[in-house]
Amino acid sequence: MIDCHVHTRLCRHAAGAPLEYVAAAEAADVSVLAFTDHLPLLDGSETDYAMRWRELPDYVLDVTQLKARAASPEVLLGIEADWTPGKENLLHEALSQHPYDVVLGSVHFIDGWAFDDPEWKARYAEWDIDALWMRYFNELAEAARSGLFDVMAHPDLIKKFKFMPSFDVAGLYEAAAEAFADAGVAIEVNTAGLRKPCEELYPSQAFLTACRRHGVRASVGSDAHEPDEVGLGLSFAHDALLAAGYDAVVVFRGRKPFELDIR
Ligand code: ZN
Ligand code: FE
Ligand code: FE
Ligand code: ZN
Repeated sequence: MIDCHVHTRLCRHAAGAPLEYVAAAEAADVSVLAFTDHLPLLDGSETDYAMRWRELPDYVLDVTQLKARAASPEVLLGIEADWTPGKENLLHEALSQHPYDVVLGSVHFIDGWAFDDPEWKARYAEWDIDALWMRYFNELAEAARSGLFDVMAHPDLIKKFKFMPSFDVAGLYEAAAEAFADAGVAIEVNTAGLRKPCEELYPSQAFLTACRRHGVRASVGSDAHEPDEVGLGLSFAHDALLAAGYDAVVVFRGRKPFELDIR
């Protein structure tokens, strides 16, 4: 059991201190736990979406101290960073400030709209949903090809509120899988979708299978925003991976991939 996507109270919309997540991981038999709290926003704005820049060193220090523990779980220092088109150099610079094990890349914003925030859900009405899906998948592929990330997190987050397109999305999955393979990034099987209106894993089974076909590695995470969510749904992720033909998952240490057998 690996859980390579958890948050902490530092990002202001999650609860729990790092040590509480470690204790929860231990209780849930999670053997690898990667902290991936939200990187502060590049424009410096102080929102409830992410840590503050002045808090980032404390986050790194807290997790680094937990990494030094001899006991299970193995702790990794990660970060979840927003894809922000046009800010690649800034992000690269920000990511090189600390020795992360893993960097998750997330598309949470389209033209500044936090489309996964329930508070802004009404904005879907302003979009043609087909065009929105195409736009989202373009951003996702561009993010992957930027080379800034190790793993593309919750890769079909655009389905969160179940605004589904009218066309067959197989082509979008295919193009994304190709971009992931070209860029050498992994896809994340994220169990938070099970707890959201879409009620399924991110990604869909068809998307995961397309990635497998293209030789894209897979990571796994709960996206826990409270200690009780650590490890939640991992057995569903495991089943989905097997069904897609995976026999290993990947964890990143020092931003290098290591495969762990799952069969
Ligand atoms: Zn979050
Ligand atoms: Fe996210
Ligand atoms: Fe997250
Ligand atoms: Zn997330």
